[in-house]
Parts: sequence; structure tokens; C-alpha cells
Amino acid sequence: MIAPSPFDGHAISDATRAFLHGPHRLFIDGAWVDARAGASHVTSDPATGIELARFQVGDAGDMDDAVRAAARAFLPWSRFTAAKRSALLFRLARIMEDNADLLTELDVIDNGMPINIARLTVDNCVEMVDYYAGAILRIEGVTMPPPRHIADMGEALTYTLREPVGVVGLIVPWNVPLSTAILKLAPALAAGCTAVVKPSEETPLSLLALGQMVLDAGFPAGVVNIVNGFGPAVGAPLAEHPLVDKISFTGSTATGRRIVQAALGNLKKVSLELGGKSPVVVMPDADLDQAVPGVALATFFLQGQNCMAGTRIFAHADIHDRLIEGLATFSQYMTLGHGLSPDTHQGPLISQGHMNKVLGHIEKAKQEGARLVCGGAKVDRPGWFVQPTIFADTRGDMAIEREEIFGPVMAVRKFDTMDLDAIAELANDSIYGLSGSVWTRDLSTAHRLVARIRSGHVSINTHGAVGTNVPFGGYGQSGWGREFGKDGLDAFLETKAVTTRL
Ligand code: NAD
Repeated sequence: MIAPSPFDGHAISDATRAFLHGPHRLFIDGAWVDARAGASHVTSDPATGIELARFQVGDAGDMDDAVRAAARAFLPWSRFTAAKRSALLFRLARIMEDNADLLTELDVIDNGMPINIARLTVDNCVEMVDYYAGAILRIEGVTMPPPRHIADMGEALTYTLREPVGVVGLIVPWNVPLSTAILKLAPALAAGCTAVVKPSEETPLSLLALGQMVLDAGFPAGVVNIVNGFGPAVGAPLAEHPLVDKISFTGSTATGRRIVQAALGNLKKVSLELGGKSPVVVMPDADLDQAVPGVALATFFLQGQNCMAGTRIFAHADIHDRLIEGLATFSQYMTLGHGLSPDTHQGPLISQGHMNKVLGHIEKAKQEGARLVCGGAKVDRPGWFVQPTIFADTRGDMAIEREEIFGPVMAVRKFDTMDLDAIAELANDSIYGLSGSVWTRDLSTAHRLVARIRSGHVSINTHGAVGTNVPFGGYGQSGWGREFGKDGLDAFLETKAVTTRL
């Protein structure tokens, strides 16, 4: 079904309108080039189903061109002085800031996210580029006592150097298109790496705009390359390429496994930010005025298309019924609509295919005996909207508690113990370990429970408190390594130990 007018009648800026006209080519070796095979694909507005733009998609040959360009650029770029690399990144941040409306609108119309969230993510991206531009001057090695057999021969000096990993492939998903790329690209460039970025085929637009900003900032040719295309056609050749030293991947756990296998050829380094099924524990003394909206948004933020989503809710029996009632009321007041409307709380899912997958999970939960509290259906309007959906009385053996749904679907389970080990056992009953939260007024309980939860990022009386300087990553099958902050920069650095007899 087609909406009566583009973007449900909401306006986009002239800059965004002009950008959509394209052409949307591949960014290789400092230039916009045509895909070798001349293939292209269409990206659509998930809130209306209307076509936004046609963009070129590459193949293994295009990817080879991009990797070779990055390999040629590596040595000169890694020898740029810290001050010069830093100045270029600061310049990029200013250009992104000047074009924040364009970047924001592109993520809204390509992904469907509400504009207030998109604006926040673009602001965070600018902060991230500034942060790593500054962090270049803080790339530091250490000195240490020389090895005994060297020291026995006379005076000596041992120290470490931090050096760039080399050519890196950055493969990113569609759920927060600009952010998931910037939080890899900024530290990679700061470290002195050169990069080939592989955006998601679902959301190519904001990263194409970023390519032009990289060019305008004056980065040398080949330092950043952006190759759109499908996973098997360009992602896989990037992950396999012998000239790539590291892959930093964000996406599903299933694709993460394929990346690891593809990386075996030259044993390239791999960082993985994968899926999640994060626990939210609500204790009997929780402040429900805070917990109700907090828990609702733990699941429904970004329409649940959020790796940190808290989708397994464990509610103590004393507050279980009141919490459910509050969550159901909250979800009824959530405004579903086009992301360009400032009143929208929840936008569409990314595609019809993904919507059908989410609806399939909802059907399965019903069949397995979970109690549907509210939602559970497609919204009767154009686009790929699913109602905020809450199930109660779920069990640990149900798919709704085990599988990442990546949609606005919450599972609530009651517990009636105060034994923190037993509560942590519930929370930890997952292959994932990416995020989580604990809701209580008792800080002693909170910290003791947090210490028992096997996850890379746990919040107290809030959920998903990610920040530029705060390390983020997964335990278990949620991934390998950490992004953001100092850890995010370390992920693109090698350590070289040097010993000199003096
Ligand atoms: P996906 O795994 O399907 O795709 C991610 C990227 O990998 C895309 O660019 C895709 O084209 C590419 N790809 C697909 N097959 C490939 C292959 N064989 N070789 C190389 N690349 C390939 O994931 P998605 O559906 O785009 O994103 C949703 C997933 O991402 C969810 O599981 C979510 O939890 C996860 N995610 C994790 C984080 C995190 O930080 N942990 C953040 C956002 C999203």
C-alpha cells in the first residue's frame, strides 16, 4: 500500500532533497566511481514503502579495488604526524556538524528512526570524531625494565610503541547506520589505519553523505573507502581479503560466525559486536514511576531494533502486576508514526521481510503459551509498523526468551525470591551478554546483583547508558572486544616492544 504523499506529508530540507537525486556511486581511492558490473539497488522509506533512491552496489572486483587503495594509502597515512591526523578528524567533525540536518534526515528516512533519536545519534557521532581526534595525542606506550639477560650485559632500555593494525574492514548493520560506522571509523583513523567501510544494503544513504564529507575534509585518497552492496557480494570478499589486517563487524551473531570463518585465511584480527537478549531485573523496592517508562523504553527504543534492547524482563512478584499494568498503559500512549514527525515515539521496522519475521516471533510466543498483554499485530497503515507488544508468563524454554527478535516485543517473567544468585541465574540464562539493567532503590542490592550479571554493559535505574567514552561490548555470543572510549582505540592498535642496548 502506498502512502498518499512522500514522507507522510512531512518536509525534508533542500539539502536532503538534493542529495537523494544522487548519483550514489562507490567511494574508492578518493573518488566516486561506478560499480564495475553496473549493478544498482533501491532503498525505500520503511514508514511509507516509497522508493528513496537508487544506489550502486559493488562486487568482489570493486571490493578488491577498495582494499588495494586502502593498502596503498596505509604507509603514508600511518606516517602522518599525530597533529596532522588530528586536524583532519577535527575538520571532519566540523563538516558533519555543519551538515547535521542532512545526516539526521537521511537516517530518519532510510532507517525509520524517530527524528529526535536520529539527531541525538548524529550529535554523538560528532562528539565521537572530536573525542578520537583529541585521543590521537594520548596514544602512549610504556617503559619497563629490560629483560634480565640484556640488562646483565649493561645498560639497556625497553619500551613499547603503539602502532596501527593496518588496513581495516568495517562492516556495519542498518539499525543505527551512521553511528555504528563512526564508532569504528573515528578510532581506526585516529590509530593510523586506513579503512574500507561496508554499509548495510538496507541503509546506504548517510554513509554516502559521509563519504563526501571525508573528501571535503581533505583526507588523502584511499584512507577511507565506502563500498555499498550485499553481504555475500562485498562483505564476504572484504572479510576474506588477504590485504585486510582486521575486520571490525557489527551485526547478527550468525553473520559474525561467517566473518570469523572468512578471516581464517590470513588470520586477520576480528572484533565483533553482535546480538543481544538483555535482562532487565525489577526488584520489589523499585521506584515504579521511574521503572515503568525506563523498562518500556529498554525494549521499545528504536522500535526494538537495538542490540542493547532489554527484552527479558524479570519482575518481582510484589510489583509484577503493577509493572505490567504500567507498561501496558505506557505502550498505549506511544505515538507510532513517520520518523520525521517530532511527536513520533516509535517508527517502522526496517523492511517488510523483517516485519514478517517479528510477527512470526509473536505468533510463536502465543503458540508456546505466553500471555499476550497488549499489542501483537501489524499497525493498519502504510509502512512496516508493529504495535509495541508485551507478553507475560513467559518461560526460559520459550523462543521469546531465547531468540533475539529485534522488534518491539517484550517478555515479562515473575520471580519471587530475594536470593541474588538465583535472580542472576535467571538473568544469565542466555547465550548473549551485551547489556542489562537492575531497578531498585537499594544500591547495595543493585551493585551486588550487577556483579553477578554476565554482561558487558549493565545500568542501574536506567538502561543502555552508552557514551562516547564508556566501553561497550559483549560477553558470551554477543561478541569479541570493546568499542567506544580508550578500548575502542586500542582495538585498532598493535603493541610493539623495543629493547636497545645503550
Ligand atoms: P547482519 O548480520 O545481517 O548484517 C550486518 C552487515 O553484515 C551488513 O552490512 C551485511 O550486508 C553484512 N553481511 C551479511 N552477510 C555477510 C557475509 N557473509 N560476510 C560479510 N558481511 C556480511 O545484521 P543486520 O540485520 O544488518 O543488523 C542487525 C543485527 O546487528 C542484530 O543482531 C543486532 O543485535 C546487531 N547489532 C549489534 C550491535 C552491537 O553493538 N553489539 C549494534 C547494532 C546491531
